[in-house]
Amino acid sequence: TALRAIGATEPTNNAYTHVGYESALRAADAVDADRKAGRPLPPLAGLPVAIKDVLCTSDMPTTCSSNMLRNFTPPYDATVVAKLKQAGAIVIGKTNMDEFAMGASTETSAMGKTCNPWDTDRTPGGSSGGAAAAVASGTVPLSIGTDTGGSIRQPAAFCGITGLKPTYGRCSRYGLVAFASSLDQAGPLGWSVEDVAIGLQAMAGYDPADSTSVDHEVSDYRAAIAETDMKGVRVGVLREATDQEGVAPAIRTAVAEAEKVFRDLGAEIVEVSLQHSPYWVPTYYVIAPCEASSNLSRFDGAHYGYRHAAEENGASESSLDKTEPLEAMYRASRAAGFGSEVKRRIMVGTYALSEGYYDAYYNQALKVRRLIRGDYDTTFGSVDLILGPVTPSPAFRLGENTDDPIAMYLCDLFTVGANLAGVPAISLPGGIDDDGLPVGIQLQAPVMQESKLLAAGAAFQ
Ligand code: GLN
Repeated sequence: TALRAIGATEPTNNAYTHVGYESALRAADAVDADRKAGRPLPPLAGLPVAIKDVLCTSDMPTTCSSNMLRNFTPPYDATVVAKLKQAGAIVIGKTNMDEFAMGASTETSAMGKTCNPWDTDRTPGGSSGGAAAAVASGTVPLSIGTDTGGSIRQPAAFCGITGLKPTYGRCSRYGLVAFASSLDQAGPLGWSVEDVAIGLQAMAGYDPADSTSVDHEVSDYRAAIAETDMKGVRVGVLREATDQEGVAPAIRTAVAEAEKVFRDLGAEIVEVSLQHSPYWVPTYYVIAPCEASSNLSRFDGAHYGYRHAAEENGASESSLDKTEPLEAMYRASRAAGFGSEVKRRIMVGTYALSEGYYDAYYNQALKVRRLIRGDYDTTFGSVDLILGPVTPSPAFRLGENTDDPIAMYLCDLFTVGANLAGVPAISLPGGIDDDGLPVGIQLQAPVMQESKLLAAGAAFQ
């Protein structure tokens, strides 16, 4: 059914970079054979899932939607992919994304843009836009995305589905092609809170192969969502976010409605403030490019992916030695392999890390990050959850922000705080605006309290 749905929707949506028709059918046949033989089946037996193309898969290419990795198939599965497969899930395909997860609209992909299934003139969000569109268009009930600054939650909101960014360290980053290592986290996107809980259950857990993975017991997330009583739960409303200039009225309404729903469910509503929130975006856009510039230095044409050939540079065919100087090969490979947004981030990052600017930018950003974390610690001293918007507006039109990087970066206004602080956050469908577009709401919780997010999400939905 999933493959048939892909056949019907893919020509318009372009949600996938690769569909594993044969491997998926083979895996489905194996599940069928086990079922017929009465063999015990794993919990997710036969469940079709789609994986963002930034997570390594040994049986499918992993391109990060970049020309740099267009022909790259890794020799191993990312831990989260391996865990899903062990749980019985069938990986149907890899999903489109902004190149190396840098963007908020999936338009920086070298594999073409993805359309929002609700309105094909609009973006599905990004960078996990393909993962969100794959779920919203009904091809799979569950996909796996990654979130460095909002890339699970913003596309989930734009596509009217549920998306969870777990606590930093809750899911292994082994096999996740790094964008900003101190912020990256993989997580599930699904039709419902239950789907997301099921996905997280399979993915979460300590992994010795990831040094930042946290050795913390994995809760029973499905049991958690049965707990929908909100009595005694303190929900802090981030009024400063919705009151900001430029926030669409539909977003304000959705958060206000959600506040009402939680109050009616018995939660105690209090107003909270995350004092340093005006610094979230500037801090993120120093730290993330700095880490990216370092992480992407491995793509040099020699180790992975695209390698520029000397002949392409006009070197004469007749020359005896077709090799070009190493430095020139690096430069030419990176010039041709990376798209312009990736280059912009590398330039910003190397500039901010360079001698003379390191203290003024990178070190300063680290200090502000500590203050931002402090705000969360203080706030979670008095509330269980923080309620606010996911995005300043519903899905914007394709092309609307492509020439304006700052406008694109401002899409992350409400999401990057959770990454800088390392806390978990969920994006939930919060209604439909006057144009018929979905609007999301966001809940954030203290570290390792995914159960609280899921329980509140289940109560809300
Ligand atoms: N939009 C943000 C960026 O471009 C977040 C991306 C992400 O979470 N991967 O960096």
